[in-house]
Amino acid sequence: MNEITELKPFSIYIHLPFCNVKCNYCDFYVIIKQERKHQLLYSLLKEIEYFAEIYSTKGFLQTVYFGGGTPSIVEPEYIETILSRIKKLFQHAEDWEVTLESNPNTFDETKLKEFKSVGINRLSIGVQSFLDEDLKFLTRDHDSKKAFESIENAIKSGFENINIDLIFSIPGQTVDDWKKNLAFAVSFPITHISTYSLTLEPGTSLYYQVKHGLTYLSSIEQDADMYEYVMDFLPEHGFFQYEVSNFAKNGFESVHNLNYWYRINYLGFGPSSHSLWDNRRWHNYKNITRYDESIKKNHHAIKNEEFLNPNEIYNERIYLGLRSKGINLVQFEEEFGINLLKSEENFFNELFKNGFVIIENNVLKLTKKGYLLVDEICEQLII
Ligand code: SF4
Repeated sequence: MNEITELKPFSIYIHLPFCNVKCNYCDFYVIIKQERKHQLLYSLLKEIEYFAEIYSTKGFLQTVYFGGGTPSIVEPEYIETILSRIKKLFQHAEDWEVTLESNPNTFDETKLKEFKSVGINRLSIGVQSFLDEDLKFLTRDHDSKKAFESIENAIKSGFENINIDLIFSIPGQTVDDWKKNLAFAVSFPITHISTYSLTLEPGTSLYYQVKHGLTYLSSIEQDADMYEYVMDFLPEHGFFQYEVSNFAKNGFESVHNLNYWYRINYLGFGPSSHSLWDNRRWHNYKNITRYDESIKKNHHAIKNEEFLNPNEIYNERIYLGLRSKGINLVQFEEEFGINLLKSEENFFNELFKNGFVIIENNVLKLTKKGYLLVDEICEQLII
């Protein structure tokens, strides 16, 4: 067996698609009925075993992320079964990060204690808002009382690493409402806050409503005001921005997220999951029936795969780096043989002049002003 330090780090993502309701803005692969739960567990274990045969000697596992869907819907034993199989088959870091996504209506303090005891050490709660009007608009199945209660229960159950997700630019939400939400968020001893602007995804019921003039999204100006406010407010309260949408207390950045942005290898299990290993990228069938059938037949459920070409890798380095902790210019030149600043000299001169980028220890980073234009800046730099 290789020494763990000689192996490359990697991450595992597990998609558990079950939810109580389908929210109007959500375009994830979600199933409302839970009768397929046990068949899915069986398939997941087979899939994990299949990939362990190929990859277990090639890397050591740094993070596991249970996403969805609402993984906290299942019983803690369900998570324990998956985690024990992973532990048995893959070498993992002693201090690995194991995250469970959860929603307020699916747990109480006792259930959370059990999740903790089976090995979850980071809890992410889909609070989305502390205001009933916002939650109603988003067709969430919890109310503001439950939003508060869920965080209190997470703290009481002993979790020390807690993220909450919040959404802004909800129709009807004012800048003051957004300020209230953030003030509630920082009043809790949590470690991480993810904030997302409500986006319109084709195929969702919100998309239909907007298309037919039944509701309207917030203006670009209001969206920018809310985003600028969060970028000022959260750092003032000890949550530092380390990505376009993510803020953490010192030492509590999500390692799993960082791995995605650094292009560390990851294996995705479950319907609709994605994987990346040494520039081979693949994704699974989205439909649970197709997924189960394929696992039975092939022990994997890969629908499509591709090998990234050098241009695609270059582009990913640009936009993943700029949205998060920046691009190490020395490593970039070593990897691609290109001096990024010189290759786009005029453009960078403008960015520096306008205060959109800075360089710290050879790392090119966006400033707060730059984050507001991340898409436009990346668009100009990708090839
Ligand atoms: S709870 Fe989350 S995953 Fe489930 S439908 Fe709502 S937004 Fe989608």
